[in-house]
Amino acid sequence: MFDKILIANRGEIALRVLRACKELGIATVAVHSTADADAMHVRLADESVCIGPPPSKDSYLNIPNLLAACEITGADAVHPGYGFLSENARFAEILAEHNLGFIGPKAEHIRLMGDKIEAKKTAKRLGIPVVPGSDGAVGPEDDAMAIAESIGFPVLVKAAAGGGGRGMKVAQTADDLMLALSTAGSEAKSAFGDASVYLEKYLQKPRHIEIQVLGDGRGGAIHLGERDCSLQRRHQKVWEEGPSPVLSPAARARIGGICAKAMQDMQYLGVGTIEFLYEDGEFYFIEMNTRIQVEHPVTEMITGIDLVLEQIRIAAGGDLPVTQEQIVINGHAIECRINAENPETFRPSPGKILQYHPPGGLGVRIDSAVYQGYVIPPYYDSLVGKLIVHGKTRAECLMRLRRALDEMVVDGIETTLPLFRALVRNPDIIDGDYHIHWLEQYLDTAKASSK
Ligand code: ADP
Repeated sequence: MFDKILIANRGEIALRVLRACKELGIATVAVHSTADADAMHVRLADESVCIGPPPSKDSYLNIPNLLAACEITGADAVHPGYGFLSENARFAEILAEHNLGFIGPKAEHIRLMGDKIEAKKTAKRLGIPVVPGSDGAVGPEDDAMAIAESIGFPVLVKAAAGGGGRGMKVAQTADDLMLALSTAGSEAKSAFGDASVYLEKYLQKPRHIEIQVLGDGRGGAIHLGERDCSLQRRHQKVWEEGPSPVLSPAARARIGGICAKAMQDMQYLGVGTIEFLYEDGEFYFIEMNTRIQVEHPVTEMITGIDLVLEQIRIAAGGDLPVTQEQIVINGHAIECRINAENPETFRPSPGKILQYHPPGGLGVRIDSAVYQGYVIPPYYDSLVGKLIVHGKTRAECLMRLRRALDEMVVDGIETTLPLFRALVRNPDIIDGDYHIHWLEQYLDTAKASSK
């Protein structure tokens, strides 16, 4: 096992990793930018090192400074959290070259899944169902129109190097295709330095359903069920729940089994998420995230498995905590990502939290690093905290979520709490009847009716 872990992150996830380390009896090192000197993860860690000025590229993404912090403190492994360097294969290799552990998958798997075209080819080869589309990048020599017609309109033009929903354009008909190809290509070139694009069938009203996997790196791998993350705004997840309101135990076992088998064949190491669009009873792979995800608590609540703790144990050479047969999905969990944003315009609202009261009671969990008097800096993401609620059934979970949202107080800044208070009372949400475009349509209607 590791003796001392350096947490190369900030905010709630730094605190989440710190908690797992404490339970395992591992010493912790927090790193922080000058803007985060007063942050909770810095206060609670055994040691802390300032690694640079506020901009992420000078601090949380600064590899030489992170290596120096490991050297100074004698840390023997690094946990990258999510975002920042968590899916940077070169970072994992550099750590290995310095005899430091990386709490994440093998570098080759991070690299493979970071390239969307390669990821899709790999998924297909491993027997995972994919969205019908072009075989790889569509170059100038290819007849894009013929490929699009064979897929059938509408088609989606996607950047190979894409991420965060950028470099994606829908072509509703053949007339839109050339423009979609050139705008997606140039957007991808400027955002990622790579203009290559590929084509996919555009699904009209799918749900986003993702499977949590865990592998030991030696051919052992299990799945821990799914999370439904269909409520999104600008491709950002807003509300996540598990189990999905639309998946039967048989469908779960089938897609979960396919994913676990694929991870066994790859000899995947650590936690990962295989993301799908789901429409008319069919799953279509879109991408794999090779890291712990923001919404991991949903799975923890319904399986009772501490994913971050297991991630650390496995990175140190440990075995899988349970067999597939031992995993039981217990009840229902919902996570709300509460952001420091205006609930209508979503304009970021950094600043000082004057009053803070987190809700409590049975089945209520808050993963957050804020406190009364804390100043949310303007440099990073706007997550105030995650409210995660568990119940025996979805109905009980919604009932608890309603009262937890009503109880929660975050004053001094604007937050998305009012949006969640409305969502938890919305008939479609109560019925579990929504898809990936539902939230944007709901927000457009709300805006139109307030004019
Ligand atoms: P990124 O890496 O940019 O996040 P993804 O491939 O994960 O890109 O897709 C992000 C989101 O875009 C999905 O959650 C979904 O909302 C939408 N999307 C992606 N592919 C398709 C598709 N073929 N049809 C319809 N929507 C899609």
